[in-house]
Amino acid sequence: MADGETIYLKDYKPFGWIIDDVHLTFRLHPTATRVISRIRFRPDYDVHDRPFFLHGEGLKTISIKVDGHEPKIYEEPGGIEVDVPHAPFNWECEVEINPQDNTALEGLYMSNGMYCTQCEAEGFRKITWYPDRPDVMAQFTVRIESTQEHTPVMLSNGNGLLYHTDLTQDQTPNYTIYQDPWPKPAYLFALVAGDLIAHEDKFTTMSGKEVDLAIWVRPGDEDKCAFGMEALKKSMKWDEDIYGREYDLDEFNIVAVDDFNMGAMENKGLNIFNSSCVLASPETSTDMNFERIEAIIAHEYFHNWTGNRITCRDWFQLCLKEGLTVFRDAQFTADMRSAPVKRIDDVIALRGRQFREDNGPLAHPVRPDSFVEINNFYTATVYEKGAELIGMLKTLVGDDAYTKALDLYFDRHDGDAATIEDWLKVFEDTTGRDLSQFKRWYEQAGTPRLSVKDDFNDGSYTLTFKQQTPPTPGQEMKDPRVIPIAVGLLNPNGDEVQDTTVLEMTEAEQSFTFEGLATKPVPSILRDFSAPVILEQDTDTATNAFLLANDTDPFNRWQAGDNLALETLLAMIRDGAAPSSAYLDALHTLLRDDTQDPAFRALALGLPSQDELAQTLFDQGQTPDPDAIYEALETLKQVRAEAYQDTITRLHAQYQVTAAYAPNAEQSGTRSLANAAMSMLNRLDGGHLAQEQFDHADNMTQQLSALGALISAGNGADAVTRFYEQWQHDRLVIDKWFSAQIIHAAPSDAATIAARLTEHPDFTIKNPNRFRATLGALTMSGAGFHQRSGAGYQLLADNLIALDPLNPQTTARMCTAFESWKRYDTTRQDLIKAQLERILATPDLSRDSTEMLTRILG
Ligand code: ZN
Repeated sequence: MADGETIYLKDYKPFGWIIDDVHLTFRLHPTATRVISRIRFRPDYDVHDRPFFLHGEGLKTISIKVDGHEPKIYEEPGGIEVDVPHAPFNWECEVEINPQDNTALEGLYMSNGMYCTQCEAEGFRKITWYPDRPDVMAQFTVRIESTQEHTPVMLSNGNGLLYHTDLTQDQTPNYTIYQDPWPKPAYLFALVAGDLIAHEDKFTTMSGKEVDLAIWVRPGDEDKCAFGMEALKKSMKWDEDIYGREYDLDEFNIVAVDDFNMGAMENKGLNIFNSSCVLASPETSTDMNFERIEAIIAHEYFHNWTGNRITCRDWFQLCLKEGLTVFRDAQFTADMRSAPVKRIDDVIALRGRQFREDNGPLAHPVRPDSFVEINNFYTATVYEKGAELIGMLKTLVGDDAYTKALDLYFDRHDGDAATIEDWLKVFEDTTGRDLSQFKRWYEQAGTPRLSVKDDFNDGSYTLTFKQQTPPTPGQEMKDPRVIPIAVGLLNPNGDEVQDTTVLEMTEAEQSFTFEGLATKPVPSILRDFSAPVILEQDTDTATNAFLLANDTDPFNRWQAGDNLALETLLAMIRDGAAPSSAYLDALHTLLRDDTQDPAFRALALGLPSQDELAQTLFDQGQTPDPDAIYEALETLKQVRAEAYQDTITRLHAQYQVTAAYAPNAEQSGTRSLANAAMSMLNRLDGGHLAQEQFDHADNMTQQLSALGALISAGNGADAVTRFYEQWQHDRLVIDKWFSAQIIHAAPSDAATIAARLTEHPDFTIKNPNRFRATLGALTMSGAGFHQRSGAGYQLLADNLIALDPLNPQTTARMCTAFESWKRYDTTRQDLIKAQLERILATPDLSRDSTEMLTRILG
């Protein structure tokens, strides 16, 4: 099973057969579900001599018939080859599978007594023998029979045709039939059955068709669906308004599932969600949760066109649907909430996760050219950098051409399994541009370093840029890329003398001149973060302070503040310097200014993460010390709290939301500023304000931020107990309880606390959310994970070894916590290496984890 063979993009070959239609019957049983498939195949006469190969994994075959006879079958790694006529034929097959024992959560499995599926990328092969590849598309009809279990609700893709339930008569099998008129690849197949309750609504599409909407949840969760439903309706409307995309079935169902390896899945007409990504209420969800839920609902819904109607030819093209859909959901959030805040949040996340990936042993192109296990490539590079590429393309061709190109894409490729070449071609055909240089962004890994020098002479101002991308695994040499650099120029008095212009850099080194300037301007470079690069610019403290106060581009205004913080922190870490007063003053001026958006001020109060500081030090040729980084951050936070005491006391009082809780951008911005002030004051008042907030909070945003503050201040014991007592019935809130205790712990305690929590009766290794809330929280705790004893590394390794046989996908994903190990000192490197090798030596380690660890070890 774990054959570990490398698959290459260049080896792509079509399947060789065409499917007319697929009929599936499921006889559900927790440990012995029968799956009967009837499929009509015919040869693809464009492709000759292809053996008939079907994927399958862990299937107990009951019978296989080709045109009514038993064919000759040859077992191959990962599937079977079958002797079939080179003519149309009928495939009939019955297999047995065991959903109860499926802890990997791929294929058909059970979660809290309910049946559900996850088939992307290659889970359908665990359901039945099938050409489980995205370029094989077919119409599915699905009959679900429930003979034993209490499964009043049974759903699949498409439209429900027939629903027969007789709960009173045990001997009558309940069944439903679903038919999906849209041809789709197997990875979009879904089935759900169980005791579920619907939160229902309706949506009328732009052409006047009425669609039945439902969010299905377990009894007890029905009061947490309203927000998700609103988000769904807004998404449907937005995709009509902005992209002209209409929904195409009579029903649209969303199901919340507690055990899920990722966020959510866009199965045609039947999206399946991790319950943490759809269930929401003010008492149990934070402002951040609400925003994320809205974005994920939009994301999965938008996949209906970018992913489902137009899918991917093969998994190397994953960014075709994911990069574009992330870009679309970011546009949606920017429209629904605050565009600058969304952009700043996204860039923080990109730098935190994608830059780290791009600068380490796991670096890979947005379109990889080889993989062992495709699940390992659902990465920040494919998703988030993939979305940045769409943004750059839009900047380069302009908004109108982007809209035309997308119209052509939908028009030309509807019903196709497409490639990145197809995608770029629609832009070339729309604009007449040659995008071959742009394509390097898809093919070459690594984050370009963009350095800039300027020169002012006789009214002309010249910016000279150099680009250089460091080597990544398997790619020594990098070619210059086309980089859209959005630039604005300011006068020293603060006026903008040059509006944002996009410079198009195509060479390794290139100059751009602005004429007719009276004085040397202050440049604002890479506005709105116009390209995913690391900008290397020697900007002095005064200029950054000037830009923080005057730049008209909100992103770069935030960036200037971030530069100041970074510069101060680096000096503190490297030279033991005191926090710079220029930084403290510039930030204070901004904080005090009530004309400034509270959300923006809260963002400006943020500090670079421990990981970003470590990477920056490493890039500058230093060995980062996680303890020193942590200490510098603590010192700076303390100094800021003391310096700003009066201001933050005022802000805290002034920015309390008095209206009824609403998870909108305005209220959440206000709360984030007040809570930032509260957590700063917490350093000065012995936890007084935090305790008061904890005692009176009527929403989770307020309650959880107070809990975090109390834990950080070292006086959270009582709140931790009370929080548990209040919420022990709510698994999503208890996930927060697990995380908070680890994330806010002192670094020296983090591993001990995490270890203790893995012994808690509510801890279960089998639930990915709980596992991430505990072990994932440890990996995010910076100095706590990296404590010199190696306790953090050991605890994570122990748990990864325990999880791998149960759930390879989540295990492999969490191995990435070790990806930056080569940055650190030799003691830490040796400790990590020993753990990586210990995990790798585990007998029967999954293909997923084996590939990850091998790449991380390099
Ligand atoms: Zn997606």
